[in-house]
Amino acid sequence: MSPASFGGDFGSMRVAIAELLEQAADVARAVQAELDDAHRLTKVDASPVTVADVSVQAIVCHGLSKLAPDIPVLAEEDADVLADRDGAFARTVFDQVRRACPDLDPAAIVAAVARSNDGESPVRWVLDPIDGTKGFLRGGHYAIALGLVADGHPVFGALACPAMGRDGNGLILVAAHGTGAFEREAGGTSWHPVQVSAAADVADLRLVESVERAHSAHGASAQVRDRLGAVAEPVRMDSQCKYATVARGDAEAYLRLPTRPGYVEKAWDHAAGALIVTEAGGRVTDIHGAGLDFSGPTLARNRGVIATHGRLHDDVVEAVQAVLDSKT
Ligand code: AMP
Ligand code: MG
Repeated sequence: MSPASFGGDFGSMRVAIAELLEQAADVARAVQAELDDAHRLTKVDASPVTVADVSVQAIVCHGLSKLAPDIPVLAEEDADVLADRDGAFARTVFDQVRRACPDLDPAAIVAAVARSNDGESPVRWVLDPIDGTKGFLRGGHYAIALGLVADGHPVFGALACPAMGRDGNGLILVAAHGTGAFEREAGGTSWHPVQVSAAADVADLRLVESVERAHSAHGASAQVRDRLGAVAEPVRMDSQCKYATVARGDAEAYLRLPTRPGYVEKAWDHAAGALIVTEAGGRVTDIHGAGLDFSGPTLARNRGVIATHGRLHDDVVEAVQAVLDSKT
């Protein structure tokens, strides 16, 4: 897959996708400002879903159906949450989506959300409409994360990070395979190259990890930090903003260390962020040092994730291995 379907150049592709994600981010921000009980539900796996998750999925899936009608989508949310079309949750979703897409009726909105049905196609979009829903709910970091996967590898990635950037006004990062990573302020027009940190000493490593201790083992990462002799306290944030932080050189390593046997990482939690770090000059592997395999809907052949600025990647993998081995 090349940017060819976007008029032949990466420039027009990144602008089209950035505009789509910005439109969706404006709706997410509006929902965040108004959040109340009618705006959220609890899914069968006990994780939260909000009006923003479903509205953003509708807006982005609808936009993609216009920009790239032939490419299937795998996205996190299920259209079942809109089954009761007269309920408060569905009606609020319809109202929010219409802020960005005024011509969509409820049936078209449900169809846009339900467009996500393909985890197996060799070329597909993977979308996390609100990555870091818990961060979104606590007023912290979250991301709208869109990746394009071809034959097991991300080839395009975009992250809208509404709480990053100057004064927390929002930042969009994009990358296409082989062309580098770029960012622009929300609402801006000029793109700036994104480059990982140049730190050369393990003592200078700054780590980022999940806020949620159920998503990444905080105790193990503290031991990794001690083992490496890294001085700085780890920074905790929700969502793929962690990948953005490493890509921009504000941290050297993002650790996602398994908290329980059997958990498999979801493709939509990593495709966009992993490509952005790689294209910014970094490296991304699992905890064993193996490359991430995006050939399925989950990273079933990987365990955990280590994303770094590249230079000291092998040292970090080795330290993680030593800590995890000592626990078994
Ligand atoms: P983060 O904001 O980085 O903590 O990650 C949020 C993502 O964690 C969600 O989108 C979930 O898909 C994912 N998640 C849920 N349970 C786990 C788990 N046990 N280990 C790792 N990730 C998880
Ligand atoms: Mg997520």
